[in-house]
Amino acid sequence: MLDKLKEIEKTALESLASVRDQSALDNWRVGNLGRSSALMSVFSELGKLSKEERPVVGQAANRVKIALESALAQRAEAVRAAALAKSLEEEQLDVTLPGRAIQHGRLHPSTQQLRHVLTILAEMGFQVYSSREVETDEMNFQLLNFPPHHPAREMQDSFYVQAGERGDNPILLRTHTSPGQIRAMREFASAQPQHPPPIRIALPGMCFRYEQITARSEIQFNQVEGLVVGEEITFADLKGTLSDFARRMFGQTVRTRFRASYFPFTEPSAEMDVECFVCGGRGCPVCKLSGWLEILGCGMVHPVVLQNGGYNPRRYSGYAFGMGPERQLMLRYRIDDIRYFWGNDLRFLEQF
Ligand SMILES: [Zn+2]
Repeated sequence: MLDKLKEIEKTALESLASVRDQSALDNWRVGNLGRSSALMSVFSELGKLSKEERPVVGQAANRVKIALESALAQRAEAVRAAALAKSLEEEQLDVTLPGRAIQHGRLHPSTQQLRHVLTILAEMGFQVYSSREVETDEMNFQLLNFPPHHPAREMQDSFYVQAGERGDNPILLRTHTSPGQIRAMREFASAQPQHPPPIRIALPGMCFRYEQITARSEIQFNQVEGLVVGEEITFADLKGTLSDFARRMFGQTVRTRFRASYFPFTEPSAEMDVECFVCGGRGCPVCKLSGWLEILGCGMVHPVVLQNGGYNPRRYSGYAFGMGPERQLMLRYRIDDIRYFWGNDLRFLEQF
C-alpha cells in the first residue's frame, strides 16, 4: 500500500510538471485530487486494512495529499505568471490593426427640440433666461395669481421639499417655467425701478408635477415659455408673433387659430392650434379628426403679475406663452407614449 502511494505521488508530480495552462491545471486537480482519483481510493480502502496498518497508511496518504496540494498551488502560481508574461509579450500595440470606431453620442430628442424652439425664438429677438428648478410656493403660484387654495392649483399637483415649517410658502419643484417670469421681471426692473426696460425672453427648462405616470402624463417634462413686456404691447403683437413662430416652426403655409382659454396669470388667455401637419387639416387620428393640433397656451400678462414683477400695469403690458417640446415631438413623430422620453431606452433615443 505504501509503495502504491509513492507511485501515485511520483506519477502525479511528473504529470504536473508538464501542465502549462489553467484548463490543464483543472484537469490535473480532478484527476489526482478529485473524488475518483487513485489517492482518494486509498482513503476509502483504509477500512479494509488491519488495525496495525491503518494508521501508517493513513498518515502516508495524508502526507501525499498535502504534498500534491502544495505542488498544485505552486504550479498554479507559475501558470498565472507565465500567462501574464505571455500576454505582455504578445499584446503589444499593433499599429496595423484598424482603429475602433468612436461611438458618437447625440443630444436627447427633447433637448434637440428645445434648441430648435429656442433657435426660432432667438431669430425673433428672444433672449434665453434660465431660472431655477426648485422654487418657493410664492414664486411658483402666489405671485402668478394662484393664491393658496385656488382651484387652478388642482391642475398642477406638486412635489414639495421638506424644509421645516414654512406656512403658506413651502418649497417645491417648479410645476411650470412661469416663476421665471417673476424672477426675470424683478431682475430687469431692479436695474431701473423708475423706468423698467422692455423684456423679450424665452424661459426653457424642466418642470415637475406629481402625476400618475401613464402613456399621456409624466412627472417631468420640458417647457419653453416666452415673455414680452413693454409699453403698448397688445394682443395683436401676441397673435402676430405666435403665428409667425408657427410658420417658422411648421412651414410657411401653416394656418393657426386661437381659442379662448383660462390661466390665472394671463387675461385674456388663449390656446393656439395649428393646422394638423399630419393630414393637412383634412382630419386624422393624430388630430382626432378635428384638423387642428393644440400646440401652446398664451395670453396677456395679468396686471397683478406685472405689478408683482415690478412693472406698473397702468403703463406696461405684455404677453406670455408656453409650449412643450415633448408634446411637439409626439405630434410630429406620432410617438404614442410619453414614457419613452425618460425611459433611457437606446432603441428609442437612437432614432433621433
Ligand atoms: Zn390630422
